[in-house]
Amino acid sequence: MQLKRLAIICTLTFLCTQIFAQKDPATTEIWKPEPKIITSGKTNSDAPSDAIVLFDGKSGSEWQQKKGGDLQWTVSDGAMTVKPGTGDIITKQKFGDCQLHIEWRIDKNVKGENQDRGNSGIFLMGRYELQVLDNYNGINKTYVNGQAGSIYKQTPPLVNVCKAPGEWQTYDIIFTAPRFSENGSLISPAHMTVLQNGVLVQNNTSIWGNTVYIGSPTYEKHDAKESIVLQDHSHLTSYRNIWIREL
Ligand code: MG
Repeated sequence: MQLKRLAIICTLTFLCTQIFAQKDPATTEIWKPEPKIITSGKTNSDAPSDAIVLFDGKSGSEWQQKKGGDLQWTVSDGAMTVKPGTGDIITKQKFGDCQLHIEWRIDKNVKGENQDRGNSGIFLMGRYELQVLDNYNGINKTYVNGQAGSIYKQTPPLVNVCKAPGEWQTYDIIFTAPRFSENGSLISPAHMTVLQNGVLVQNNTSIWGNTVYIGSPTYEKHDAKESIVLQDHSHLTSYRNIWIREL
């Protein structure tokens, strides 16, 4: 009898605690750790205080040729422009999960069609290409998973928000690197969110593997941090205001 009474009291106490907890807003409040305070730029394009500046319009010192050696692309008028034939360029520093801001411009005298029109690209971790191409107003017809804002040969952009050749455009990229097990198997794929000119074109898109021109993409184990690559596709595409925040 004593035990039964004790059990009832315990049960009532437990229920009262639960009911009280459900009515107390503090039970769902998180106070620590506080998010780090940083200073935003004057516009959303300006590098915030904790960013690593990869190109400030003057110095290409954060970059080198992919095949080795100093940067050979043209740095002038605040921009870094593909020098056709010199090859892709890579960052000297390596990155994994990141927020990347990069501005690009198709040559105002661009010629050609399909993939042969202002083609370049931004390869996260040197492997996963976010396409750069002239698709202003949809005039240049190409496969949609190869147009500007696409994860090349994988996922087309949600919208075509391209500006005209000669105008600067922005990509704001939030990238999550893939994770691999010790034996090289994929634990989780890479993901990319992209705003082009402030508009969402890739929404946490799952990446299928290395960008390939022919065949199906597959993953190959790589380091947790890798260089970012900009593509020389023989067209005079320019870049400026490149900054990155490691996540
Ligand atoms: Mg490309």
